[in-house]
Amino acid sequence: MEITYAHDTLKDADFTLNSILDISNQGFWDWNALTGHVYRSIGWYRMLGYDHIVFKNDVFTWENIIHPEDYDRVMEHFESYIHGDIPEYRIEYRCRKSDNTYLWIQDSGKIIQKNSDGTVLRMIGAHTNIHDFKRSQEKLLHQNELLMNDNLSLDALVKERTEELNLINKKLQVQIQEVEYNASHDRLTGLYNRREFESIFEKEMHRAKRYLYPLSVVLFDIDDFKKINDTYGHKIGDEVLIGISILVQKIIRQSDTIARWGGEEFIVIFPESDLENTKVKAETIRAAIDREIFPKNLHVTCSFGVTTYLKEDTSDSLFIRCDNALYQAKNLGKNNVQEG
Ligand code: GH3
Ligand code: MG
Ligand code: MG
Repeated sequence: MEITYAHDTLKDADFTLNSILDISNQGFWDWNALTGHVYRSIGWYRMLGYDHIVFKNDVFTWENIIHPEDYDRVMEHFESYIHGDIPEYRIEYRCRKSDNTYLWIQDSGKIIQKNSDGTVLRMIGAHTNIHDFKRSQEKLLHQNELLMNDNLSLDALVKERTEELNLINKKLQVQIQEVEYNASHDRLTGLYNRREFESIFEKEMHRAKRYLYPLSVVLFDIDDFKKINDTYGHKIGDEVLIGISILVQKIIRQSDTIARWGGEEFIVIFPESDLENTKVKAETIRAAIDREIFPKNLHVTCSFGVTTYLKEDTSDSLFIRCDNALYQAKNLGKNNVQEG
């Protein structure tokens, strides 16, 4: 009675266990290394899309459904475990389903019986469906990769744009300098233009007032310049204008300022120079031009008006006086210096 009871109980337990294995969503396997037989639960087949047992109960069934890309890795892991090189058999890989698609599973197993020589006799294990988890993980990795790439390209874009902006800024800076230069300089001679000269003169006038030092101005005009243009052409006329501006710049001091006042008229400010001194300087310039040989062996002369700043002067009153002196120099036969 007792034996029958025990046997029945054992049969019941076996039946109960098999039923649990069958209804479980996990796929269980039980390998007997001696016979080569592998028991696989209904859940194992269900996971791969089969509703009943379709394969032979041997290990080749398992090997045949492993994704070719995962095969070597799985076999290496399996062998390492059964040879005792690693303590645990647990590995993720893809298995071919009934519709020939692949399912990510986690396979874990355990040797439960060994032969006397230590080799494996029986090993059991379970497949768990981790497909959705694996897909989400892949998606996250992919998104992360895209984000990284985006960040990298964003960085590169920012760098590129910054370099472009720096270049544009540099070009703008150069353009601004060019515009500023053109606004204040005469294109032909490179001297200050009249506008810039007037602004410099205003400053010099205030300085002279503040420090009570003399300030004088020399206005000079090329004699018979029209004739030069008419005889030799406008280009030679231009060369004479450039030649005179170079010559005068060599004569005056750094603190003196020369500008192109008009067509063939030049003006020079002499700070800290009284009328007498300035007349001498004007005479020096006149004589230097008189001596110079210009293109086409030209002899060119200029007439000079000199004046000095008086405390009641405005810039206009001073320039008018200087212009009158120049007019007088022309009337007195040109190529001379007159004060006003
Ligand atoms: P004066 O001795 O009385 O000053 O006689 P002028 O011939 O020098 O004076 P005028 O005012 O009759 O002529 C000035 C000439 O200067 C006329 C104009 O064409 C020329 N001129 C003005 N600007 C330039 C220039 O930039 N280049 C050249 N080549 N000629 C210029
Ligand atoms: Mg002239
Ligand atoms: Mg003139």
